[in-house]
Amino acid sequence: VDTSTVFQHRKALLVTRHGKEQVIGPPLREAFGIELVTTDQPDTDLFGTFSGEVERPGDQLATVRLKVEAACSAHTGADLLLASEGAFFPHPDSPFLMMNRELILLKDQVHQLECIGRSVNLAPGIMRVTVHSAADALAQLPAFRFPAFGIILRATDRHTGRLLLRKDCPSFAAVEAAVNELLPFAADGKVEMEHDLRAHRNSDRMGFIADAAAHLVRVMQRCCPACGVPGFDVTDILPGLPCNWCGSPTRLVLAYQYTCTKCNAAHTDYFPNGKQTADPGSCDHCNP
Ligand SMILES: [Zn+2]
Ligand SMILES: [Zn+2]
Repeated sequence: VDTSTVFQHRKALLVTRHGKEQVIGPPLREAFGIELVTTDQPDTDLFGTFSGEVERPGDQLATVRLKVEAACSAHTGADLLLASEGAFFPHPDSPFLMMNRELILLKDQVHQLECIGRSVNLAPGIMRVTVHSAADALAQLPAFRFPAFGIILRATDRHTGRLLLRKDCPSFAAVEAAVNELLPFAADGKVEMEHDLRAHRNSDRMGFIADAAAHLVRVMQRCCPACGVPGFDVTDILPGLPCNWCGSPTRLVLAYQYTCTKCNAAHTDYFPNGKQTADPGSCDHCNP
């Protein structure tokens, strides 16, 4: 494999219905001259939408792989395919904080390799309120940072018990109209208003997907020192940076483990943050 030309000037297909090409296309074009085209097939919403439950990274990676596999079957002419997947999950140390993880998977059918770009961030505040009138809803919108952040309205039909849903309200007037439309049917006169987490309606998420795309470019540029195939990436983070007072291992990062997905060659990169010892403040012995 000639690593300098593996990705140069190829055409790539991105599966998205939510405008993600705006942030994934430019870095790929700049780094490799890749021309990104989009497709709305397969319908990525069939692979699940946000539920707010705990999601393990394995599930998310498995989901994005399924999207890419489905795209490979639907578009047999494409040999470079991309899909992305976002997940929200509670912070491991403090369950009241929500985290967001964005993954972008690139699959190269010609060279049979995959590269994964990631970005993990504290999720923006995800709000949900109950409103009883259109005026009530309008008064709450600034706190939602509407319209930069979209909202979803939902109510339960008081006759049928069915879920009534309104998405894609572009303006204050549209929200007002949608609430007025729902209220006569809404059980207990209640409408739930919550943040729309889809990428095109959430500018924070779009920024995080841009970060994942930048990471993807770095992964595509990093080649295995043994076989030269691109996609050489961190597969494990090893904690244990020693305390600079007592020398005990702390929970801070000691090394990044890199593994080649093609030939399994491994490389351990010690002190990736440029520090050989940890501040005693992060030591369980010195600062229990
Ligand atoms: Zn290798
Ligand atoms: Zn210590």
